[in-house]
Amino acid sequence: MGIATINPATGETIKTFIPLTDAEVEAKLVTAERAYKQYRHLPFEQKAQWMNAAADILEQRKSEFAAMMTLEMGKTFKSAVAEVEKCALVCRFYAEKAPEFLANVPIATDADQSFVAYHPLGIILAVMPWNFPFWQVFRFLAPALMAGNVGILKHASNVPQCALAIQEIVEKAGFPEGVFQTLLIGASQVAKIVEDDRVQAATLTGSEFAGASLAANCGKQIKKTVLELGGSDPFIVLESVDLEVAATTAVTARMINNGQSCIAAKRFIVAEAIADEFEQRMAEKIKALQVGDPMDPQTDIGPLATPDILQEIDDLVKACVSQGARVVAGGQRLSDLPGNFYAPTLLADLPPGCPGYTEEFFGPVALLFRVKGIDEAIALANSTCFGLGASAWTNNAAERDRFIKELEAGAVFINGLVKSDPRLPFGGIKRSGYGRELSIQGIHEFVNVKTVWIK
Ligand code: NAP
Repeated sequence: MGIATINPATGETIKTFIPLTDAEVEAKLVTAERAYKQYRHLPFEQKAQWMNAAADILEQRKSEFAAMMTLEMGKTFKSAVAEVEKCALVCRFYAEKAPEFLANVPIATDADQSFVAYHPLGIILAVMPWNFPFWQVFRFLAPALMAGNVGILKHASNVPQCALAIQEIVEKAGFPEGVFQTLLIGASQVAKIVEDDRVQAATLTGSEFAGASLAANCGKQIKKTVLELGGSDPFIVLESVDLEVAATTAVTARMINNGQSCIAAKRFIVAEAIADEFEQRMAEKIKALQVGDPMDPQTDIGPLATPDILQEIDDLVKACVSQGARVVAGGQRLSDLPGNFYAPTLLADLPPGCPGYTEEFFGPVALLFRVKGIDEAIALANSTCFGLGASAWTNNAAERDRFIKELEAGAVFINGLVKSDPRLPFGGIKRSGYGRELSIQGIHEFVNVKTVWIK
């Protein structure tokens, strides 16, 4: 697929873009390098002023940016507005917190004075996915730029207008030319950029395949990486909780972003004693979801972002069903609609060995598993190669403590859905990736942790 805006609700190609040539990429790197030499020395107050100005622009033009996201990747307009607002929040968060997070840390030694200083690294490459086209980029750029780095963005090929809009926001906010640039390039052009000595480090949010490929190239160049990859998050429900609250949250957690979120709950692991009732409640709520035009405020579920994603989710459901899974709700494409629409789906009785146990379902498909108790629940939750988030529901303190200690995930949320928050670190273990974004840990990923010793 080339770089293009294709409306996933209609299949219409709106605009195509020509990828940058090698010479154009080179010019961008020259600009970034030049910008870094000046920018790294600017005081926090100046950078914070521009970061807050970026937040102002996001808030003032949120409808415009939200409509752009909906057009390019199909998320509902109302959720896109919330995404823009969250981007403004992360800009303001790091504008305020960066001086504290990056302040020198004195450490007593045999020196007259010794401390840790956090200094910028230089040009950081960000390779980003389409599913949260603004949020994924802003959660990288706000800490990276506040730390004094400069950023270059290779965004997903189906969200070029969002990618260009983000550069425009940064420039309009007042940041000097070259501090943040969008490179409209294909995935095959990334390796050469990684090899360039001027590029110091890279972060990728996306699939395991893309992450492994980028990390392998960075490894050869001895360059730091942060990887935010896939997930098959468990959502565990035990007997002691309010089933209506848990079932309502379960459906929200699964269907967020038309089911295309790394931290969407994907596997619902429910104690046998309450499983029938929980299944019924989930099914009712899933069947009640409105599927259709993502610009319509009544719509809960829009189209999937691309025909390939639609095909992939359809294939996964068919494979589970052919091996014996029971379709409780949905279970098919919505072919009467023109775009990439899939019915919100609930599958139960998944037979061991079917893809429900191993694959990431990146679409509006919930998988329900019955377990005898907490031991089986934790074992099943941990039985995937992923380890991003986990949501566990119980009002029993001993069970809660076991979930916190034993669930193999970068985040455990008790009695709530997994979500990102600028104040809390975000990231995974196992094949979900490594490194953290957000909070103090996020801003420390792309800095030189410099030891200073003075006699
Ligand atoms: P993807 O195909 O890996 O694409 C992500 C980005 O990587 C795009 O910009 C893509 O460019 C680029 N890319 C693809 N192959 C590459 C390669 N070999 N070298 C360098 N760059 C490459 O991922 P996706 O299917 O769009 O996104 C969905 C995946 O992202 C899911 O697995 C989801 O769970 C994960 N995700 C994780 C997080 C998290 O925070 N952990 C957040 C959101 C999504 P092109 O578009 O040009 O191919």
